[in-house]
Amino acid sequence: MTPAPPTVPNILTIDVEDWYHLSGEQIRGQGRLRPDILARQLDRLLGLLARHDCRATFFCLGASLVNSPELVRRIAAAGHEIGTHGWGHQPVARIGLPAFRQDLLRSTR
Ligand SMILES: [Zn+2]
Repeated sequence: MTPAPPTVPNILTIDVEDWYHLSGEQIRGQGRLRPDILARQLDRLLGLLARHDCRATFFCLGASLVNSPELVRRIAAAGHEIGTHGWGHQPVARIGLPAFRQDLLRSTR
């Protein structure tokens, strides 16, 4: 008897964060949060995933979604898994474990 071929899961993860987090630079306190852009791009992505009957895990950044928690609810309502991407997008190596722990805890409240 020939064994069944191995099943390879398709795993897709997505970071939900503002545009400036891509550069690794932090821009703070300058009113640069653009929830309208984040919402528009998120809707495009959710539509694409729905058309292909695909589910993903969305790692949400607290600082990007603090003023638009409905986006997180929209992701969950579409059947996707929600994870945390922390609060402030700070590298662990820069802030240390205690501060990283606090960052994660803040992101889940
Ligand atoms: Zn990120």
